[in-house]
Amino acid sequence: MTITPPVNKRFVAIGEAMVEMAPSAVPGDYRMGFAGDTLNTAWYARRALPGGWQVDYLTALGEDAVSDRMVDFMEAARIGTAHISRLKGRTIGLYLIELKDGERSFAYWRGQSAARLLAEDAGRLTRGLAGAGIVYLSGITLAILEGSGRELLYAALRSARAAGAQVVFDPNLRPRLWPDTDTMCHAVMETAALSDVVLPSHEDEAAYFGDADVAATAERYGAAGAGLVVVKNGGGEMLTLSAGAFATHAPEVVAQVVDTTAAGDSFNAGFLAEWLEGGDVAASVRAGAKLAAYVIGQRGALCEAAG
Ligand code: ADP
Repeated sequence: MTITPPVNKRFVAIGEAMVEMAPSAVPGDYRMGFAGDTLNTAWYARRALPGGWQVDYLTALGEDAVSDRMVDFMEAARIGTAHISRLKGRTIGLYLIELKDGERSFAYWRGQSAARLLAEDAGRLTRGLAGAGIVYLSGITLAILEGSGRELLYAALRSARAAGAQVVFDPNLRPRLWPDTDTMCHAVMETAALSDVVLPSHEDEAAYFGDADVAATAERYGAAGAGLVVVKNGGGEMLTLSAGAFATHAPEVVAQVVDTTAAGDSFNAGFLAEWLEGGDVAASVRAGAKLAAYVIGQRGALCEAAG
């Protein structure tokens, strides 16, 4: 069955947003920003969707000044913050980008971040998803949750779906965030079974699920229950599986790849913005690929001129 976009024009992204410290032109100096996979997608989706859509971010932050700054950042970007919990005694995670001989490496401080408790208050989570048309999450959202957080999140996803929302999931496999790859793969497939749309990246999927090709990735998520699967594929040909039918899609030609940070996140936003406004799958993939191509031609996760 072909899945059609939801009626309610409310897009809720759930996950962890962090402080980003990126090297500036002056050696030893860093520029502070905010980023995180699901926040990046919400940020690009807000820019790409028409004003009739409400885009909200659902997470938990601390009560400190840097958490206040993050809220201000989201509000300045017109992302709704009404369902963000503020937790005493916790703060937000941080990552630092190191540039060595043109190669980027990342160091993270996120073990105690407030976002790990975002699903802890089940009532609050359910209220945050009420009236959502799209609930967007990633494998990183799953990975960071403490204790019973994942079960609580699944329950909230089930009730949101029962109320008419569609769940969109990017597996975004990050084994470093999980105790082991089996736990990661199991949780990812559990979430896929609760999802309407799955947006995996083939390279990661091949590494941890052993998929031989893009069709194997699409088939696995289709078999788990997703009605629409879009397999991203770096600079290679993408594959979609919609209503049981496969289609291939060429990426954009990018003259110079500057920084691939947020390629997948921006692709997802461009794809969804087109699809949610009635575009067919092929046009939506083109929109996603176009936005991703722009983003990888620039430095950083959030590129101002996009959209
Ligand atoms: P992720 O960033 O999640 O690892 P991918 O590397 O698969 O995701 O890239 C996501 C999308 O970004 C691709 O499907 C494609 O549209 C675009 N993209 C990434 N790398 C390139 C490239 N070298 N040339 C053109 N498009 C690219």
